[in-house]
Parts: sequence; structure tokens; C-alpha cells
Amino acid sequence: MQLIGQMMNRPLLVSAILEHGSHQFGAQQVVSRETHGPLHTYTFRQLAQRSKQLANALRSLGLKPQSVIGSIAWNNYRHLEAYYAVSGLGMVMHTCNPRLHPDQLSYIINHAEDEVILFDSTFAPLVKVIAKLCPHVKHWICMSDQAHTPVIEGPVVQCYEDLIASHSSELTWPDLDENTGAALCYTSGTTGNPKGVLYSNRAIVLSALSACLPNILNISSQETVLPVVPMFHINAWCLPYACLMSGAKLVLPGPKLDGASLYELMESEKVTLSAGVPTIWMGLIQHLEQNNLRFTTMRRTGVGGSAMPKALIAKFSEVYQVDVRHGWGMTETTAVATISNINSEEQTWPEALRHELVAKQGKSVFGIELKIVDEEGNTLPRDAEAQGELMVRGQWIVDNYHKAETTALVNGWFPTGDIASISADGVMQIRDRTKDVIKSGGEWISSIELENAAAAHPQVAMAAVIGVKHPKWDERPLLLIVRKQEDFSNKQEILDFLSERVAKWWVPDDIVFVAGLPVGGTGKVQKAELRIQYGSVFSE
Ligand code: AMP
Repeated sequence: MQLIGQMMNRPLLVSAILEHGSHQFGAQQVVSRETHGPLHTYTFRQLAQRSKQLANALRSLGLKPQSVIGSIAWNNYRHLEAYYAVSGLGMVMHTCNPRLHPDQLSYIINHAEDEVILFDSTFAPLVKVIAKLCPHVKHWICMSDQAHTPVIEGPVVQCYEDLIASHSSELTWPDLDENTGAALCYTSGTTGNPKGVLYSNRAIVLSALSACLPNILNISSQETVLPVVPMFHINAWCLPYACLMSGAKLVLPGPKLDGASLYELMESEKVTLSAGVPTIWMGLIQHLEQNNLRFTTMRRTGVGGSAMPKALIAKFSEVYQVDVRHGWGMTETTAVATISNINSEEQTWPEALRHELVAKQGKSVFGIELKIVDEEGNTLPRDAEAQGELMVRGQWIVDNYHKAETTALVNGWFPTGDIASISADGVMQIRDRTKDVIKSGGEWISSIELENAAAAHPQVAMAAVIGVKHPKWDERPLLLIVRKQEDFSNKQEILDFLSERVAKWWVPDDIVFVAGLPVGGTGKVQKAELRIQYGSVFSE
């Protein structure tokens, strides 16, 4: 006879995180930098009350479980309220990346069937453009008070504060199935249209729990946490949930992500732990160096999104005594999937060796399994030498993309598009990428879209875009062009042409006119060859 465990089967829900945080750590603070006015400070208890007011307001607008609510917002307290209100009701919080081109932004809003868009007033000009392209959105709500709610030509804009003011803070969260979708985030990290990853309540709770573990980010009620990683990108690594779970003070940086503003916030709020992409940390360190400053409370930082350079790890740990936790993850992995960390024996290693270890992407967290495979799908050895495509599986890894007809998995594993090696004791190192995309400052640029845009120029016969190593942005696009007329040499004309068609920060840093492009047996441009030839032109 099979003995089934006789324990309660209570669902893992986002609403339970809010209830726990407000009951166990009710006086703990959320500090938020706003687009307008001074820092905003309130408690977990007030956060819960206002989330419930928002939840009641959303119900009064006729929204139902499964409704999708979009946000175009910075990391701030109203965005946090929406995180909990929307998912708590069994609706889906669709966090949109405001850095997307309006065409892509409207694509994801329409694809996800957002019924409401909650936006920061900063994004009023963007809303004006996309509202015309998103006719199914019923409510455009500015996350602001009346004084800062803009009038936008086109959509009727409601004021968040007015909307929630008349609603009660009494509400019992529905008992949902833990597999109910809670949040949705699109990734542009692959070819074609952006793909949506629909996180379940269960995935978020498990991933947030994992983030709190000592080996991962070590989040407890002794910490003050500043997530610089955006709430519109992989749930800000689930930190907005992990802080409520563990009673850590939460500091939200709003729109100001430059070195000086982050440093000021870290010092004034006594931040002990932060998380962000390497480009942001580079700006922060530059500010400290130029002004001869030190951190007084910061002692640990999570970093990921792209590879953290060894020199920066050394600076953080040796000069500023900040412990670097270098993580790897993807939109498809809910939050952090691997993290590099130093154990007690490794602490005794020489500096250079320790930094080399941290510069690798580290060990998978409990719940996540990794393997590398060759082109035929054969598993490769874990010997730190063999390199193959990184495959991942676990309780909070995507299974299907939102509304996709086919599974995202290959034999039960998710293919990441990253090339890695894994050592015998599980240390994973990213070596390359099979995805034909460029990661600049932690955000994706589609080389294919850039090529298509360039190909539309009358002087362009063939175009190829590659990501080139860049000292500040990690990678920047370089455009190679085969011209129709050899005497055409006006790079600026092509750059201007592209500026009208893609987001400004996508415009390549340079153009090289070439006689021809290397083409392989299947007719594809061989980018690997181009990367060898031009891969370091921005760092020479
Ligand atoms: P995204 O879905 O936008 O979060 O991007 C995920 C991708 O970013 C991964 O598949 C990697 O290509 C890259 N990435 C994330 N973290 C790291 C890291 N620590 N080192 C190198 N690449 C990374």
C-alpha cells in the first residue's frame, strides 16, 4: 500500500506573502522614490491596506479573475500595491518594459489582452502614442495623485488616488489554486515577436523563498533591500515578495538609477543589500571613485542580467567590502536560477582566485537543475571544459510561452540559448550565446529587427548586426552593410533612417561598409566569424 503524506495541502499564494508581511512585520517600512516630490515612506501594514483598496477598486471596474492588468512603471510603492492587489485577486499583473519601442509595447499589450494599464506619469507621452494602438484597453490609470495626473490627448485617464480613495481596505483574498497565473513578463530575447512568460502563484512563492536563503541573497528582517533591478523585468528577481516574506525593509529607487542618486538613497536609507545589472553598478562605483566616497551600510549585492566583470567584482569586494553574489537567470526562470558564492574554504583563497570564481555564474539554487548538451541533445560531461547549450528545469521554470501552441521544452528541459560549461561540483559558467541578440545595459536589442530596418534603406544590399563588447554597456550593436553603390558613404543618413524605426538606444554605435558578408551552407550570415573580426572594435 502506498502511504500518502497526511499534511494539509494549502496553496502557495502571493496574497499570503502580503498577509504574512503585514501581520508579522506590520511596522516595517517601504521607502519609495517618486517621480514627483520627496521620498515616500509607509509601513507593510499600510501597503496591505492600500493594496486591498486597489483590489476593491479593480473589482468595482468590473474586472474578474483572469483579467490581465498591465503596468508601465518604475519601482515604486504604487507599483508594489498593484503587484499584490492584482495577483491576490487571481488576476494577472503584466509588467511592461517601458524601454520597448511603441510598436513592441503595443504588441505585448494586445497579445496579453490587457484590460487596464497602470502607468507612471513619466510615461504619459508613451501612453499617448500606444493608446491609439491598443483599442481594447478599457482603463488607463495614472499611478499618481490628482495634481500629477496628466490630460492626454486620446485616452480618458483616471487618477489612481481618486480611484482607490472611496474603496474599503477590508477584503478577504480569494482562495486560489496555486497554479493560477499571477504575473506576466514578455521577453524579447529571442527571434520573432516577444514571448510571454506567465508566472504562477506557486512559482513566485517558491522562487521568492529561495531568494531569501543565506547562500542566495540572505534576506532577513535585519536587511534593508534596494532592488535596482526593475519591477518590469523578471519580477525584480522576486525581491518585492522576498522582503515581505522575511520582514526586510524595502527601498524602491523610482526613476533615478544614476550613480549619485543610488548612492544617496543607499546612504540615507541605510541600505545593506541591493541588486542590479553590471552597467548600473559601474555607474555607482564611478560615482564613489570620483567623489572619494565609501558605503557606510551596504554589505552585499546581487548582480546579474549579463556577466559581471572580474575587475568590478574585485573593486566591490576589496575596495568597498561588499560581498558580490553573481547570479544568472532569465525571464523564463522567474528569478535567480544560479548564484556564485564563496564557501568558508574558498574564503581563504588568494583574491584573484576568489574573484575568478565569483565571475562565473555559480551553482543552481535548490529546485533548479542544469545540464549542458551538444547539438544532438547528448548530455555533456560536468568537467568545466565541455561547452554546450545550457538546459534548465525546475518548479519555477517556464513550460509553455503564453498562448503558444507548442511546448517551450525539449524532452522536459528548457533550452536557454546560452552556451555554458559546468564543473564537477556544479559551478556553471556562461561562455557564449546561440541567441542572435545583443544585451546592452541589461536589456535586449534584436539584431534581426535592426537588420530588417536597415535593409529597408535604398542603399543597403545586405545588412548584419552583431553585438560588440563595450566597456560600459557590456555589448553594443555594430552594423555591417554591403552597399548597392560603392561610392555611398553616408553613415549618418543610415543612422538617422534607423532612429525613425527603432528605439533610440537600439541605434548601432557604428557602421562598417564591407564588400561582402560570410555566408554558411544554409545561406545564413556567419555571425561567429564577424564577431571574431569585429568583436572588440568598441574596446580597442
Ligand atoms: P532576460 O530574459 O532578459 O533576463 O535575459 C536572460 C539572458 O541574459 C540569459 O539567457 C543570458 O544570456 C543573459 N544573462 C543573465 N544573467 C547573466 C550572467 N550573470 N552572465 C551572463 N549572461 C547573463
